[in-house]
Amino acid sequence: MRQLIAGNWKMNGLLAEARALATSIRAGAGGLDCDVLVCPPFTALTTVSELLLGSSVQLGAQDCSMQTGGAFTGDISPAMLHEIGASYVILGHSERRAMHGEIDEIVREKTVAALAQGLIPIVCVGETEEQRQSGRETEVVGWQIECSLPKGFSGIVAYEPIWAIGTGRTPSEDEVAAMHLFIREELTRQFGDGGRAMQILYGGSVKPSNAAALLALPEVGGALVGGASLKAEDFLGICRAVSAQR
Ligand code: PEP
Repeated sequence: MRQLIAGNWKMNGLLAEARALATSIRAGAGGLDCDVLVCPPFTALTTVSELLLGSSVQLGAQDCSMQTGGAFTGDISPAMLHEIGASYVILGHSERRAMHGEIDEIVREKTVAALAQGLIPIVCVGETEEQRQSGRETEVVGWQIECSLPKGFSGIVAYEPIWAIGTGRTPSEDEVAAMHLFIREELTRQFGDGGRAMQILYGGSVKPSNAAALLALPEVGGALVGGASLKAEDFLGICRAVSAQR
């Protein structure tokens, strides 16, 4: 399976910036040996969708509602995302879990809704620094996998240690490998053969200089990239790190 490099633009990118970034990524994405995904903010999705038409770069959103429609002020349904060309959606990002009270049950319901619309969910899990320091990282991540992924789940899991997001710090290669192996075992236990084949991304301070080493680790099926996805050269540098080592 090709690795997936996904850019999470978060709440960055007025339309002019989004256009420029998407145009540069599109221009540099030809011939890469990985799948490339960008996840702009909602307001830029249509613009970026139009710019990416006919290219290999895929489009995703950063969240969606668990509802299909109706009186849910401010929410965006999976069908709305599908309509404007999104094929992926990030769910349960730690920033949404922490700042919007998205507990596992909410993440699970959103995942159900995304799957029902044919979107590919990228469900994020990961421990806090305090949880890792007290040796509880696998307990926490195992619990998140158990409770955030619905029965019959098919999609992508992103392991994002919260303390590595936007900090410039990453776990050691051994720690990343151990956690990805643990996640593989949990997915296989929960979903059988389906779990054996699921893609597991690593996220947290991935940049061109550390991408090749992280992406070469066993069970790492790609990267979810925040800060470095806002500069086309950095993002493409991460994509090329995959191409270089495959
Ligand atoms: C993220 O927020 O998903 C992320 C991985 O951010 P960063 O790459 O900036 O650590």
